[in-house]
Amino acid sequence: MAKRDYYEILGVAKNANDDEIKKAYRKLAIKYHPDKNPDDKAAEEKFKEAAEAYEVLSNAEKRQQYDRFGHAGLGGAAGGGFGGGMNMDDIFSQFGDIFGSAFGGGSFSSGFGGSRGRRVNRGTNLRIAVKLNLHDIAHGVEKKIKVNKHVACKTCNGSGAKNGQYETCAHCKGSGTITRIQQTILGAMQTQTTCGYCHGEGRTVKDKCNTCHGDGIVREEEVIAIKIPAGVADGMQLSMSGKGNAAPRGGINGDLLIVIQEEEHPQLKREGSHLIYSLSVSFPDAALGTSVEIPTVEAKAKIKIDAGTQSGKVLRLKGKGLPDVNSYGRGDLLVEISVYTPTHLSAEEKKALEDMRESKNFAPNPNKKEKGFFDRMKEYFD
Ligand SMILES: [Zn+2]
Ligand SMILES: [Zn+2]
Repeated sequence: MAKRDYYEILGVAKNANDDEIKKAYRKLAIKYHPDKNPDDKAAEEKFKEAAEAYEVLSNAEKRQQYDRFGHAGLGGAAGGGFGGGMNMDDIFSQFGDIFGSAFGGGSFSSGFGGSRGRRVNRGTNLRIAVKLNLHDIAHGVEKKIKVNKHVACKTCNGSGAKNGQYETCAHCKGSGTITRIQQTILGAMQTQTTCGYCHGEGRTVKDKCNTCHGDGIVREEEVIAIKIPAGVADGMQLSMSGKGNAAPRGGINGDLLIVIQEEEHPQLKREGSHLIYSLSVSFPDAALGTSVEIPTVEAKAKIKIDAGTQSGKVLRLKGKGLPDVNSYGRGDLLVEISVYTPTHLSAEEKKALEDMRESKNFAPNPNKKEKGFFDRMKEYFD
């Protein structure tokens, strides 16, 4: 069937101006709107035909092409689906231009095309907690986690339909929305609601899949490998895009959110990327010097305690802390030393200490320009 002339379709003269074209289209769009003509194929065709004519004649460039070469001039035009006609989404998207001004502001401002388009289902996000110890955090770790989630039904390939076929929703003609037009003194007024029949999807499943009852999804346990980078901290959230719940009838998957839970280390305290170990040494060891083993994230490490070590001294083991999650840096292991004062003494020990009491070597030396513990720790955390 030969295509009708666009001017003829809209019923305007060849030299009609933009305003006349718009008015003519508006009239036809209201007259042939699918909601006013349910199940009327002829009206739907006229509706689409008018939309296509308007699409061309309202565009200066396309109109010029059409005037010079007729329909052939637009043959290769992309968008709008010429030849096969425009689809409803395209048509409703035009409405914003045409009816927008008539509606003015206020409650009509959403206008045509405000929430146009079919709804694409989206799967929900899944949130799981992953417990990590310091060793995991120091090196980064890959965890295989069993997740109970919605996955696409294998019987119907996620379509929800026995034969994998959808049908265009008869109620909204595939648009996913129901648009009602009423004539008021302000002109055409429209309201748009999500189609209740297809829940906005614009399509329905006639023969439902027996496995998923038409949902296209089933619950299943899936083992997901989660790569956790080194240096993460308690409460951090990682997200794996598309690894959450599958959407009903083939939409977009939700995300998998991984919340980090850090297990407390029995001896090492974490402060950002630094680790702190509190080491208590005996009075003789502090006075005479020794070497002791301390825990690290890896194996134990041996450190030297100098003779004459004061309580509150902080030894720094560079790079023995945790990696920084955001950089290549690595924290330190800080060993905070306190000298243990005995609480029970034998008679001999008491005597030995009594003898030392008078020695001036045992008198505290407050003039020493040693920084206090707080000042030294501050250097690391500022
Ligand atoms: Zn519908
Ligand atoms: Zn199924």
